[in-house]
Amino acid sequence: MLTESDSNVPNPPVSRGIPKTNQSNVLTRLGDMHAPNVGLPKIADVAEYNYCSSCGTCEAICPVNAPVVRREPVDISREKNNYRKMELKTEALFRGINPFRAEVSPCVQCYACERVCPILDGFPVDEFNNIRSMRAGKSRTLHGQDGAAVSQILKSLLEQGEIDCAIGVVRNDRWSTKLFTFTSPEDVVKAGGTKYTYQPVVATMRDIHRAYAGSAESPLISPDGSMQDAARTYVEPIKNILKRYKKVALVGVPCQVHGAHLFRENFNRIELIIGLICMESFSEEIMFSEVVPKIMGVDIRDAVKMNFHKGKFIVETTKETKEVPIKDVAPMARKGCHFCCDYTSYYADISVGSVGSDDGWSTIFVRTETGEKYLNKVNDIEYTDKPINLDMVKKLTDMKHKHNKWDWRGFMKEIWSRDSPPRPWGRERLEKIPPPEIEKETKPVKSKE
Ligand SMILES: Cc1cc2nc3c(=O)[nH]c(=O)nc-3n(C[C@H](O)[C@H](O)[C@H](O)COP(=O)(O)OP(=O)(O)OC[C@H]3O[C@@H](n4cnc5c(N)ncnc54)[C@H](O)[C@@H]3O)c2cc1C
Ligand code: SF4
Ligand code: SF4
Ligand code: SF4
Repeated sequence: MLTESDSNVPNPPVSRGIPKTNQSNVLTRLGDMHAPNVGLPKIADVAEYNYCSSCGTCEAICPVNAPVVRREPVDISREKNNYRKMELKTEALFRGINPFRAEVSPCVQCYACERVCPILDGFPVDEFNNIRSMRAGKSRTLHGQDGAAVSQILKSLLEQGEIDCAIGVVRNDRWSTKLFTFTSPEDVVKAGGTKYTYQPVVATMRDIHRAYAGSAESPLISPDGSMQDAARTYVEPIKNILKRYKKVALVGVPCQVHGAHLFRENFNRIELIIGLICMESFSEEIMFSEVVPKIMGVDIRDAVKMNFHKGKFIVETTKETKEVPIKDVAPMARKGCHFCCDYTSYYADISVGSVGSDDGWSTIFVRTETGEKYLNKVNDIEYTDKPINLDMVKKLTDMKHKHNKWDWRGFMKEIWSRDSPPRPWGRERLEKIPPPEIEKETKPVKSKE
């Protein structure tokens, strides 16, 4: 198991409360990390340097459940990490333990996880080059965070049998969240409303993925069966239930959507990916012990809605509305969020947010043919003729990219070219690293000749 305290890597320096990694230090240290040319998968480095977004995709794809996004609460007075990061179980952890009796098994170095980790895939540079159409819409019947477009899309597609289930995040009256797989159209609305805390949404695919392990439908299960572990007792009971989930709709924030997109390349049960626009999110620990009680002065049980709107973080209660400038809370976002350079869910089939449209409407970007096909089937959604304020969306996108700027290209180059020769999927990633933004933002760089 990798934790900061176990490793020799010092804590990243902190500025404005935001953990920033010293890049030159990272690049020199990578050489003697405990994941050299062969050995641990590169997700170990992603977690170690706190770039990990906890999307849960590695957890979903791993045949032995070695990476696990921590679910139990973190004691923030003791741990500098303010979120439940991914932990990788290695053989060292299992000395003297029979792995088949444990909840997880040690990593068997199949490297499936490296291929689906969004951080190891890099970030989009131009977030708007795949938009096919955009408009503001709202549900005619449902209520949600904005126009309830997300809930309406899911409800409509479930009603028509276009999808079998939808993965969403629900909350209780104390705003504790839980991942939920919806199969009934009426229930979808229970996930309506934005929770600014985090769940490893893509990890839900693990159960669905594992249900098919026995039938070897996943190309990531090796033909000799070595990656299957039939000894897992929980696979059997869920198998029959999950067999009907052939067409899954997944809703998530950009990091999760990117992971889901990479997962879908290997395992085609995800039919539709709906991405939310996202500036940042918070751990439940920070949200419930610092942000809501201390900064907002609100008892969480009174809160009925939270929102980021026009430079303010707003908490509505049954009696009042409290707001503070975003800059008062943003530094407390989860560590991975400070390295995140995707605002609009570039890898989604359909992206939805509030920015760019009037209050009560959802901004909808269609990005793929799949997205177009499914949105056209949705009933009970109305659209306005008022165009999306794309300049505003672009302004906030640039702001996120600027705030979270780090040398992710350098990280990718270093980490993928560390193997000699690079692994095939590493070579693919090295080849697609886009030129530095600076060349795009400023005048074209002249060649040396
Ligand atoms: C952490 C976070 C930050 C966001 N930041 C921005 C922003 O900066 N600018 C902007 O324009 N929009 C942002 N959004 C999106 C916005 O708040 C709405 O979710 C979006 O406009 C959809 O609204 P709706 O009324 O169509 O959705 P609804 O019909 O209300 O449905 C909401 C859907 O979101 C899902 N959901 C809720 N919370 C989470 C969560 N924590 N993780 C994963 N899924 C979740 C639910 O499962 C549900 O399917 C953010 C969303 C999140 C979760
Ligand atoms: S390399 Fe394979 S076994 Fe190891 S964590 Fe990744 S997916 Fe699991
Ligand atoms: S796949 Fe997601 S959870 Fe796993 S290491 Fe990468 S960012 Fe973290
Ligand atoms: S900012 Fe949003 S998309 Fe990026 S890592 Fe945080 S929660 Fe994920």
